[in-house]
Amino acid sequence: MGVNPGIELIDKNGKRTDGRKVDEVRPIHIEAGVLHRADGSAYLEWGNNKVMAAVYGPREFNPRRFQKADKCVVRCKYNMAAFSTSDRKRPGPDRRSQEISKVIADAFENVVLTEKWPRGVIDINMEILQADAGTRIAALTAAAVALADAGIPMKGMVAGCATGKVDGKLCVDLNGPEDNYGESDLPVAVNMTTGEIVLLQMDGHLTGREFEKALDMTVKACDQVYQAQRDALERRFTAKLDELEKDTPAPRRGKQQEAKEVVEAEVA
Ligand code: UDP
Repeated sequence: MGVNPGIELIDKNGKRTDGRKVDEVRPIHIEAGVLHRADGSAYLEWGNNKVMAAVYGPREFNPRRFQKADKCVVRCKYNMAAFSTSDRKRPGPDRRSQEISKVIADAFENVVLTEKWPRGVIDINMEILQADAGTRIAALTAAAVALADAGIPMKGMVAGCATGKVDGKLCVDLNGPEDNYGESDLPVAVNMTTGEIVLLQMDGHLTGREFEKALDMTVKACDQVYQAQRDALERRFTAKLDELEKDTPAPRRGKQQEAKEVVEAEVA
């Protein structure tokens, strides 16, 4: 949210800098199961954002002093690659990445059935390879697919989107210039099964009415994100089934079939 140097973010026809309408989400494509060393993984492209997510676990949490006796810990690491932005990003953790890692971990603590693995840990790593606004939500969206790919039971799939105010108008899924020069940004993530909001942050200002409308627009946009997640998982598990079928030996012939063949041979 910076000072606009004079860029027209919404033209007189209501179109945004990338040609979208105010309620239009950028194109999303997700591939699940892209990394063979991780227990679950997903690669996501959302507009110009490119994100890789990998999940390890659940496994025993060491050192033991960090263990929780009644549940497993969900540990998240969000990282922006040095080459992900136009100005080289200084590598390594910073306050922003620590904050994002924490809010994403809190979101997943609410949906993963953590009580199934007392004293365990699930590690979620999210690498932003290319950034163009909305990366925390893009990372969380990819991580949710990676968790499902790892077979980790959840109360529901988590999808998200960021809505903001640009040139006085509410717009879903802000792009880079809108995020930089808009008036506010409201990233939200929802448990799509229960409708619970598991992440909500706000940068800038919105009136109460604008906030409610922005939330409505975000929840609608989440449906499109959820569809992309479902498509990715469907493709992933159909491919897995095909692989399984290929590797399974043909079923043994039953006694009835054997008897039928003997009779047929004798008649011939
Ligand atoms: N950004 C950047 N360098 C940084 C952090 C952010 O260029 O060190 C850019 C990046 O494109 C990011 C955008 O600023 O997507 C907005 O960042 P914000 O903290 O609002 O998080 P996001 O919208 O990505 O969730």
